[in-house]
Amino acid sequence: MSSTLLTSTYSMWSAFRNCRKACEYRYQIGLVPREKDANLSFGSLIHECLQIWHETGDITAVRAFIDRACAARVSDESVRRDWHLAMAMMTGYAARYPREEFAVVALEKNFEGPIVNPDTGAASRSFVLAGKVDGIVRIGGDHYILEHKTAATIDADYLERLWTDFQIAIYSFYVEQALGIPITGVIYNVLGKARLQQSKGETEEDYQARRAELLEKSKTGKTTAKRKLPESDEDFQGRLAEKYLDPEMFHREMLYLSRDRFDVLRAELWELTQAFLDARRRKVFYQNTAFCFHHNRPCAYFPICRSNGNPNVIENFYTIAAPHEELRAPDSEPAF
Ligand code: SF4
Repeated sequence: MSSTLLTSTYSMWSAFRNCRKACEYRYQIGLVPREKDANLSFGSLIHECLQIWHETGDITAVRAFIDRACAARVSDESVRRDWHLAMAMMTGYAARYPREEFAVVALEKNFEGPIVNPDTGAASRSFVLAGKVDGIVRIGGDHYILEHKTAATIDADYLERLWTDFQIAIYSFYVEQALGIPITGVIYNVLGKARLQQSKGETEEDYQARRAELLEKSKTGKTTAKRKLPESDEDFQGRLAEKYLDPEMFHREMLYLSRDRFDVLRAELWELTQAFLDARRRKVFYQNTAFCFHHNRPCAYFPICRSNGNPNVIENFYTIAAPHEELRAPDSEPAF
């Protein structure tokens, strides 16, 4: 394959489809926010845990990995929160699925393939598509892509939306082509995120205010109220463990793939490459302001757009990073 071909991923094409300006910032200029998205960091941590679990079936190894990855939990409260959640989630997961109905064929599998013009069958001379799937598994004689998700709520709406996950459909096609494994469908392995919080207890000030209030209401002029102490790690783990006994905290959803859908998605992918080349040639990447608050939170590039590209904003809040971080193997650095 020629070295002039640029690697692209579905994340890149999805960004281009949603807001061309965001795609330019990430994939043309290479900007990424200095502050990591906490949801993405937690998602990566759980992906790595699941890889270890499905490779070894050893929950002690998974727990040791979480300990190492969250070494900063002693001083950083958000890391501590993730440590608690990851520990309880993975321990609950191992108890929920001690044996699997599928055989693992591959984990964290990278692939790469041409993007083809559907009219002529010719491969793009500008791009290849690369990606990585969480797993390939076999049930009987059928192969499935295994896709891990962490979700705040696993309800009918969430499961219904999985159908719109174009990325996995197109990746299934590429896995078939690149690895020669016919893919029957996708198994979404969804892990719920418990919303419990570790109690911080009361400050002396809060306690005195509550005590005064109780005394005012008391007919005897006395109260037995004691200061609420912070919840210990053991007690919080106990509450989380109880939560993860609920089978509804985990869900497996199987979706079958239609060949027609493959064709539509491949045609769309080709069109996106042509539109991208045109935008790059003209140096015009339009903003799609309807997308600025998609997923109920501001886009990662909102500060730049809001400030009209102010260089100080870019300098202070962004850094340059290589594209397609998701294709790299997990490194041995702590996640936090
Ligand atoms: S803030 Fe809005 S316009 Fe700017 S890159 Fe993000 S989605 Fe596009």
